[in-house]
Amino acid sequence: MIQTRGLTKTYGDVRAVDEVHLDVREGDVYGFLGANGSGKTTTVRMLLGLVMANAGEAELFGEPMPKSAASVLPRIGALVEGPGAYPHLSGRANLALFDAAAGARARRADQRSRITEVLEQVGLDPSDKRPTKTYSLGMKQRLGLAAALVRRPPLLVLDEPTNGLDPQGIRDIRELLLGLNRAGTTIFLSSHLLAEVEQMSTRVGVLDRGRLVLQEDMSAIRAVTGLVRVRTPDPDAAIALLDGRVQERGAGEVVVRADDIADLNVRLVTAGVRVTGLEPVRRTLEQVVLEATTP
Ligand code: ATP
Repeated sequence: MIQTRGLTKTYGDVRAVDEVHLDVREGDVYGFLGANGSGKTTTVRMLLGLVMANAGEAELFGEPMPKSAASVLPRIGALVEGPGAYPHLSGRANLALFDAAAGARARRADQRSRITEVLEQVGLDPSDKRPTKTYSLGMKQRLGLAAALVRRPPLLVLDEPTNGLDPQGIRDIRELLLGLNRAGTTIFLSSHLLAEVEQMSTRVGVLDRGRLVLQEDMSAIRAVTGLVRVRTPDPDAAIALLDGRVQERGAGEVVVRADDIADLNVRLVTAGVRVTGLEPVRRTLEQVVLEATTP
């Protein structure tokens, strides 16, 4: 769905985006992570043809951008850097204008029902007549998301979609996006929130000072490490038994190297070591990102 090769953008001496190779596949929820200023927004803007790259290539749906923008952009729902809306018009009127501006692909006959549905999806009242200048930051963000969804695109490109939302709002949007993904929508979302990306993504890319330092499936990131956390009221007995395999010990627990958790359990219990829990140790996204990025 999105492929880039050597995508680069410089501003004077600053390499805002530095030879980035993105690979976003159909069906992915791709979490694009990076600290403030790492180049996420610049990358998103290049994907959408809003900023010209200095070097490299970008393809969306297998078509080159920005050359094929006229064919590519109608198939993308985008939310970039704060949604813009006409402040004196209602949310519904803004969406109708946005949809009309999208051109012939927008079928007017079903426009009313699409707008009603999308306003409900993002948690805005479809009968709300107030102008958007009275909207809270969270409501504006929801309206921006509604604009991205109104044409039911197969690909969403969202820059920090939960900006300005409270915890309930973040959860609502997360569930909405996951539901759309289950129904077949591919989602590329940038975020600086690790937890958000960890909860949603099937694939992760990490930018560090303009460079893509990690791109991996979440399943690989969260793969088991060959270590097992043993919770026990008898940690000394466990350590005595498993001596050479012990990696670390904590309060009421020992981390050991083991290939088979069931065998480990039998060994402990047979030796009289009481066990309250056994759990494979997995890397967290936070650990992986911290290892990949410079402090
Ligand atoms: P944030 O999370 O803070 O939005 P980001 O990861 O989206 O950050 P970018 O906004 O892409 O990062 O910025 C990357 C770098 O490029 C920064 O050093 C920024 O100062 C610089 N930059 C971005 N746009 C411009 C511009 N128009 N002119 C000059 N420098 C720019």
